[in-house]
Amino acid sequence: MIVNLDSDQCYQAVLTRDTRFDGRFFVAVKSTHIYCRPICRVKTPMRKNCQFFSHAAAAEVAGFRPCKRCRPELAPGNSLMEVSSQLARNAAYYINQDFLADHSLAELAEKLGVTDRQMRRVFHDEFGVSPVEFWQTQRLLLAKQLLTDSTMPVTSVAFASGFQSLRRFNALLKERYRLTPTELRKQQNKQLPESFEKFSFRLNYRPPFDWERLLGFLSQRVIPHVEAVQDGTYFRTVHVKRQDRDFVGHIQVRHEAEKHLLSVRLSDALMPVCAIVLERVKRLFDLHADPITIDAALGTFGTQRPGLRVPGSFDGFEMSVRAILGQQISVAAARTLAGRLALRFGTPLQTPFASLTHVFPTPQRLSSATVDEIGRLGITGQRSKTLIALSQAILSGALRLEPGSRVEDTFAALHKIPGIGEWTAQYIAMRALSWPDAFPHTDLGIKKALGLSSPKQILKLAEQWRPWRAYAALHLWNNLEKKS
Ligand SMILES: [Zn+2]
Repeated sequence: MIVNLDSDQCYQAVLTRDTRFDGRFFVAVKSTHIYCRPICRVKTPMRKNCQFFSHAAAAEVAGFRPCKRCRPELAPGNSLMEVSSQLARNAAYYINQDFLADHSLAELAEKLGVTDRQMRRVFHDEFGVSPVEFWQTQRLLLAKQLLTDSTMPVTSVAFASGFQSLRRFNALLKERYRLTPTELRKQQNKQLPESFEKFSFRLNYRPPFDWERLLGFLSQRVIPHVEAVQDGTYFRTVHVKRQDRDFVGHIQVRHEAEKHLLSVRLSDALMPVCAIVLERVKRLFDLHADPITIDAALGTFGTQRPGLRVPGSFDGFEMSVRAILGQQISVAAARTLAGRLALRFGTPLQTPFASLTHVFPTPQRLSSATVDEIGRLGITGQRSKTLIALSQAILSGALRLEPGSRVEDTFAALHKIPGIGEWTAQYIAMRALSWPDAFPHTDLGIKKALGLSSPKQILKLAEQWRPWRAYAALHLWNNLEKKS
């Protein structure tokens, strides 16, 4: 059940409160019916009373309740690479994105290209619970965090956590945790900020975490009017669709190094879709990664820069547009063009920040733009055509740029778009799909860093870094920066 771990290793991790295993498994205590993170500070349970689960949902379905001290809802998620089946991994991705709030299980199966039955079976084999039980746990844990850490009214908590009615929320809470929302609220932190405006979500990660380099990467590539990095904080505008309703607002993300977490503040308008927004923040900052495993697999790279992360994307379409604009021009020039595109085709938005004024253009808007209109911004005709074709491929459903997509299908769809070559496809897979094994082997920087020019030789050399070649690429780019 727990990938690469046996119960001896799990118990050892509990004894030493090992942060490396935080989120990779949970320990349930049979005598108390409570389950904990391995880092929990309560008295270590006796071995004979322990049962180990790779996912919180499996512990809950087996009748255990989340610990009030270590708060399983704050644990970092599992790296998707740890899930052996790509199908189960993709299903989990969509469930984490709150897909089941608006869709049936059959629709989820259809999206994954399998039958309903097949999906349920594979999902159960992998996680030990059904997709619905998995989703219920995600929702309850989010509700628990909101009830404990915020002053958000209970009805809003229920809706924000994906429940359609307060009654169903109360019923599931009672069934799983044997508590009412009011009882949960009593566990609240005494020093809560008075206004809800000041509430921040906490997203834990497994250390080490090279925040400086990650933020540096994003800061060089911010899209003017849409994103900003200031005083070590990342800001951006957000547009999310749920049940055909548009939610727009802005977020800010800060690092709290001593607590091993990112603190995320959402504008009020985004609270009903907080599950989706938070999942995207996790993917942008690569919070699911298991750095110890990755660093060990990468040898000297790992020792040189422990905890180096691969920057993901908040929005796969936006990131891919930026990648296309950046073909064969400097990072700074690409940033300027992306800013012009946002200003011309994006939607104006009022925020308290002078640098955030627009929401990035949607595929709908760009697909209806003409080559001339885009060309007036200083973007070449060929690239304008590529941007329009990309937008159309997304609208038609032929292309999906999110981690739950099948990598092979995405590569095939990307290669059909004129102007998207191997480099762009690999780079999009690395960042929009968070595919850890993506590797832009034709990249000039990688050629230079390795001192090799033949793509064949480079690919051969990169074999040793599988399945973490995207991380190796990041290390190579960093080596280059040091040299130049
Ligand atoms: Zn605990």
